[in-house]
Amino acid sequence: MGETGFARRIQRENIRRMLIASVCFFTFFFVGFLILHLQTVQEINPYIIWGFMVFSEVYTGAYIWISYQWLTACKKWDMRMEVHLFWGIYAVVMLAASFLPDNAFCALAAYWIMTAVLAIVPLWNNKEFLVSQGFQIAVIVLLVWYRESGIETIIYLSANQLMCGIISRQGYYNFLQRAADANAIDTAKSLSETDPMTNLLNRRGLEHNLKYIWQRCVSSNSRMTVIMIDIDNFKKYNDYFGHLEGDNCIRRVTAEIHKMICRKTDFAARVGGEEFVVCLNDMDKREALKWAIQLKQSVEGLRIPQAEDNFLPFVTVSVGIAWGYARSSNHFTRMQKQADEALYEAKENGRACVCIEGKCYAKTSMAGNKQRYYLEKGFRSLG
Ligand code: GH3
Ligand code: MG
Ligand code: MG
Repeated sequence: MGETGFARRIQRENIRRMLIASVCFFTFFFVGFLILHLQTVQEINPYIIWGFMVFSEVYTGAYIWISYQWLTACKKWDMRMEVHLFWGIYAVVMLAASFLPDNAFCALAAYWIMTAVLAIVPLWNNKEFLVSQGFQIAVIVLLVWYRESGIETIIYLSANQLMCGIISRQGYYNFLQRAADANAIDTAKSLSETDPMTNLLNRRGLEHNLKYIWQRCVSSNSRMTVIMIDIDNFKKYNDYFGHLEGDNCIRRVTAEIHKMICRKTDFAARVGGEEFVVCLNDMDKREALKWAIQLKQSVEGLRIPQAEDNFLPFVTVSVGIAWGYARSSNHFTRMQKQADEALYEAKENGRACVCIEGKCYAKTSMAGNKQRYYLEKGFRSLG
């Protein structure tokens, strides 16, 4: 998982905390307000308190909504700015609340301290956290001085600040640890499911993907295409150019497969040395055939030189296709077998072609002198 993935994980955690904090504090505040109201019924206009409370909840809700948009809209703006603004506006509201009697002010201030410190801090590193704490303490000191509050208020607010600070840092480190563990698991999982040479899925990755995607296709009765691709006469290539060049050739062919897998629901895996399987979702038969022919032609378009005694002077692939509606969960195995049989037919048909349901298409052959040259060399598979 990259930087963005990590930032997103932090942000998701942040939203989760905001939601929990918002619900808990709303309950806490509601009870607090009732006690306060009963104690100081003559002093405070309840609408003012309600006004502050509703504002806080709506504002926190808006923050959660914006954060969610940020998560789903691929970071269109800098979320950190939004976080600082969030606390900044809370500080202004605290200043407004300072006009209330002491106990009401204390309750509101404690509420905001908790929301701001517990809810937003997961996004902050230690430096930012210290700055925010300094800022928050400065606001509290200013307000207490301005209001000429008693020592109890100072103790009450400082204790709140300290407690929230400790809990939030503890939460932050726990979260970092969990995020690092999750990252390590993600990386190990993706490595164990990827073929290191081609970056395609390996057999395990294929099985893992199939478990989810195939099942979804079965439930939605989707059309599935399973394609088997094999490089022609690759032994000959290896013998002629050596294994290292052989590896390079596999990489170059794979790059063409990568280029043609554009949709999230499609995937490709390396299932043998120079054998690949591709799964395409929701394509009709003609489109699937077109896809395979295009892939075959783009590999030929690379004009990778083949061994001298090959039937064509450049590297080609043979392709077998199986097409149908996804049925049971083990249907994939049957379709793969079908695609394998079609690939066998393509090989039998002289290679460098695409076969589906007993018919072969887009055969590449050399005409004229070149063909005669290879014939003289006694190579069996001529197009
Ligand atoms: P066909 O047209 O019938 O497919 O002929 P082929 O020679 O390609 O036959 P086959 O597919 O059976 O041969 C696969 C060869 O691919 C055998 C092996 O030497 C080579 N091979 C398998 N894995 C690798 C690899 O990772 N790197 C290289 N360089 N060669 C590999
Ligand atoms: Mg081969
Ligand atoms: Mg093979």
